[in-house]
Amino acid sequence: MSTPLLAVQSVDAGYGDFQALFGIDVEVAEGELLALVGANGAGKSTLLRTIAGSLKPSRGTVRYAGEDVTGAPDIQRARKGIGLVPEGRRLFPSLTVQENLQVGAATGRQGPWDLAKVYETLPLVADRRARKAARLSGGEQQAVAIGRALMGNPRLLLLDEVSLGLAPLVVDQLYTALPGIRAEGTTVVLVEQDLGRTFAVADRIACVLEGRIVLTGPAADLTREQVTAAYFGTG
Ligand code: ATP
Repeated sequence: MSTPLLAVQSVDAGYGDFQALFGIDVEVAEGELLALVGANGAGKSTLLRTIAGSLKPSRGTVRYAGEDVTGAPDIQRARKGIGLVPEGRRLFPSLTVQENLQVGAATGRQGPWDLAKVYETLPLVADRRARKAARLSGGEQQAVAIGRALMGNPRLLLLDEVSLGLAPLVVDQLYTALPGIRAEGTTVVLVEQDLGRTFAVADRIACVLEGRIVLTGPAADLTREQVTAAYFGTG
């Protein structure tokens, strides 16, 4: 196999004295979509933070594009093409949608994504371009947060539960945008609670249980029963 775009090796991570991840090993090939599934508190967000660089592992390494980035700060990883859309959005409320998107361009790389392409891919965002972020619904903010990450031309896009709490119509629009994002060659790691959607979009699935990866494999080779059992730790 050629060098994976992302290789997480033997990673332990946590918050203060609390250990949230134990010996995590994950590889993601360029162009692949990996879905992380697991119960609340399993450690999925912590793993994404460790990959994005907002959290430093206490052990192990994170390699990206063949380079050891374990000690690199998040801003440096963003410039290299790692884009995180965290759970709970975090836009600049007093800026307009378009201004928020422009902030994304300033922290990323050059590439195919610009305002026109984001608006074409996410019509919901285009419709709200002049509105202040503070005046958007939760779903609209989530769509803008994805647009902002795309403006940085990520080579590796990390999406943390982007559909959490959103109306089904908005979730459908976000998922409709995924093939266009992948068509640019973008590698994606996403956290999704809905197993139906996970199986529909993922090339590979990794199940996280209490800070450990307990099951991983191609989506085509796994059954919902296997994933559900891993999710609840009854496998
Ligand atoms: P969820 O779906 O609820 O977001 P998750 O799988 O993403 O769950 P994490 O958010 O990674 O799980 O949490 C893993 C563990 O780390 C949990 O026990 C959680 O309480 C703890 N944790 C998460 N963030 C912090 C933090 N900032 N400070 C302290 N502990 C944290």
